Amino acid sequence: MVDLHGQYLKIKEDIDYAIEKVLTSTDFIQGEDVKQFTKSLSEFIGGAYTVTCANGTDALQIAMMALGLQRGDEVILPVHTYVATAEVIALLGLTPVFVDVIEDTFTIDVSQLAHKITSRTKAIVPVHLYGQCAEMEPITKIARQHNFYIIEDAAQSLNAIYRFSDGTQRAAGTIGDIGTTSFFPSKNLGCYGDGGAMFTNNQDVADLLRMIANHGQRVKYHHEVVGVNSRLDTLQAAILNVKLRHINDYTEKRQAVAASYDELLRELSEIVVPARAWYSTHVFHQYTIKAPRRDDLKKYLERKGVPTMIYYPVPLHLQKAYQNFAYPKGSFPVTEKLSGTVLSLPIHTEMTNGEVEFIASCIKEFYGKR
Ligand SMILES: *Cc1c(COP(=O)(O)O)cnc(C)c1O
Repeated sequence: MVDLHGQYLKIKEDIDYAIEKVLTSTDFIQGEDVKQFTKSLSEFIGGAYTVTCANGTDALQIAMMALGLQRGDEVILPVHTYVATAEVIALLGLTPVFVDVIEDTFTIDVSQLAHKITSRTKAIVPVHLYGQCAEMEPITKIARQHNFYIIEDAAQSLNAIYRFSDGTQRAAGTIGDIGTTSFFPSKNLGCYGDGGAMFTNNQDVADLLRMIANHGQRVKYHHEVVGVNSRLDTLQAAILNVKLRHINDYTEKRQAVAASYDELLRELSEIVVPARAWYSTHVFHQYTIKAPRRDDLKKYLERKGVPTMIYYPVPLHLQKAYQNFAYPKGSFPVTEKLSGTVLSLPIHTEMTNGEVEFIASCIKEFYGKR
């Protein structure tokens, strides 16, 4: 699905040098590279305050802690997402309020929000799934109207740009009260382990995020709030400092692979290629098709040596761990349908045209077309 080794080889000299520098300095926790990366990332996403942390799941948790969400508060989220989004809500004793997604774009269905909002609604977590933004303009309007927070889960969409109807453009993760992202190795900007970050345009919120991520202290051994230990390792920051210089190339590469897939698969009436929303660029964390006889297609491709993935095979409301929130089967028809039809094809920065063509021809072959 990804070729992290091939990608590493192309920047090996810079990466090895960066790692060696950290090893020599032994500045492993909150070292110079963390400060440098925080600054560079902030500039990259358009100037929002940036706070790094240990992973994208922690980023969501710290965001919810910083906004003062309390036990029993309701948090709205799409049911078609990675478990982390729901996990931190449950972990903090908050109540997840699931909403179905739009079949075309895989993001939260804004038209269903109205009857999910109650007096206990304190936040919404739109997820910019697979690399394309959720509908932030209407979400922002509704959140303002009903006075609740927006935490954008931008783990899959770093470098995606949202377009408002007046033409204003904003980077994914910098539109809501807080945005979060992940540097898990396979994410669009991946490190060589775990890493994460949070964005906000509010300086006080940024201070709180920074404090909570570091044991609730501003000054060492003076704890103002209950915090967590969630810091980005200096080694990972050193790697990210090198890789951030390539992020635009990486994004363009993914978009080029997606365009080739589109071109090659468009004529195939059986499958649906990813929709492109007018209000967002797509950075193609995943290239996800909807395919009839999906499981057979997956097996067929496997036999041809083509790996594929299903994101996500079991909707969150049907997961054992989330049974107590009492959403029966049938609650979210679109998500339930998607869990049986979505298939993510290999897409990464090292892919060749030949590989894309081979995969497309295998899919055509499966449906009896050459
Ligand atoms: C990867 C991911 C996360 C969690 O990031 P980690 O760094 O793995 O903790 C959260 N939300 C979404 C949508 C993700 O894809």
